[in-house]
Amino acid sequence: MRIVCLDLEGVLVPEIWIEFAERTKIPELRRTTRDEPDYDVLMKYRLNILREHKLGLPDIQKVIAEMGPMAGAREFLDQLREDYQVVILSDTFYEFAHPLMRQLGWPTLFCHSLEADASGMLVNYHLRMPNQKQEAVKRFKELKFTIVAAGDSYNDTAMLGEAHGGILFHPPENVIREFPQFPVVKSYADLRTEIDKAFART
Ligand SMILES: [Mg+2]
Repeated sequence: MRIVCLDLEGVLVPEIWIEFAERTKIPELRRTTRDEPDYDVLMKYRLNILREHKLGLPDIQKVIAEMGPMAGAREFLDQLREDYQVVILSDTFYEFAHPLMRQLGWPTLFCHSLEADASGMLVNYHLRMPNQKQEAVKRFKELKFTIVAAGDSYNDTAMLGEAHGGILFHPPENVIREFPQFPVVKSYADLRTEIDKAFART
């Protein structure tokens, strides 16, 4: 009765906003919470820029589909799902993730949602709840599942700490320094080994 909770961006697929900014050559979309700590201000800024460039949801999804998952991600996930239940916990939006989920074989994804108007222009975003990654792990534990979680960044550390075992995948140096309690891996083969080891310890 084991569940692996995985972050999405930076673990299975590229950072969607960053990659989208590159592909569309709209550098303003590279702005992240590091530049603008107020998430609501940042999201409204992003949605405005998309509207200014007349990019509606179908155009955006087309660009995201071309990104594709990271090399080896699909194989890693397929093998993992043979042995464990896998739930992806992400702070992205269903509408953005959709083309990538198709390429990953439709794994279970818990994230947030976007609102488009009749012409496909994005008009708003809806966060399902705050701290959903950590909250989901907490609830799975209440349902008597054993959880191992893996992610690459700050927004994963609460989830990693809440799980029975937490693993950092390709994290930036500052995250490694600040969270020495989590093992660090850099390949899917090592991530799989570390997941198996973490469950063996529980
Ligand atoms: Mg991430």
